[in-house]
Amino acid sequence: MKIIKKSLQLSYQLFPAQYSPESGRRPYHFAFIFKRGVLVSFGVNSYHKCPKILRLARRFNIRKYTEYQYPHAETDAISKAWGKIHLDNTCLMTIIRLNRYGKLQDSKPCVDCRAILDSIGLDKIWWSTKDGKVTNGRISILVEDLGEVSGKKQFKEKT
Ligand SMILES: [Zn+2]
Repeated sequence: MKIIKKSLQLSYQLFPAQYSPESGRRPYHFAFIFKRGVLVSFGVNSYHKCPKILRLARRFNIRKYTEYQYPHAETDAISKAWGKIHLDNTCLMTIIRLNRYGKLQDSKPCVDCRAILDSIGLDKIWWSTKDGKVTNGRISILVEDLGEVSGKKQFKEKT
């Protein structure tokens, strides 16, 4: 649970202090890799092509990413750790996605990221859901139940 709370705190820290409607698409999708409880890498999604993604795509034979070389939070976190941290089943990944108002969104890994995670053996994965939970697909934790999460930013949604 400490890891989930920590991931939420880090996400809020990384989330921009001010939301500007003119800023367009911004990365609010974060992935964290912990190894034996220690944060070893984090990633954000991006709309800029990244050669590291092509390398991962070739390594894991993910056809889609050889053409579409934009990092997902998960692939960004993996590529940053690649060659430095041994990624395996002792690792845990958390994926937190916020909307522009700072509200939790669904962030279940897509099939391609999942294929890479499966190849690595990284099978402990928790992701946020839009009903305010973090889940691993079997167990769901209501974020409210974690107590105060420091750095929490939430903007008023325009209706
Ligand atoms: Zn993905």
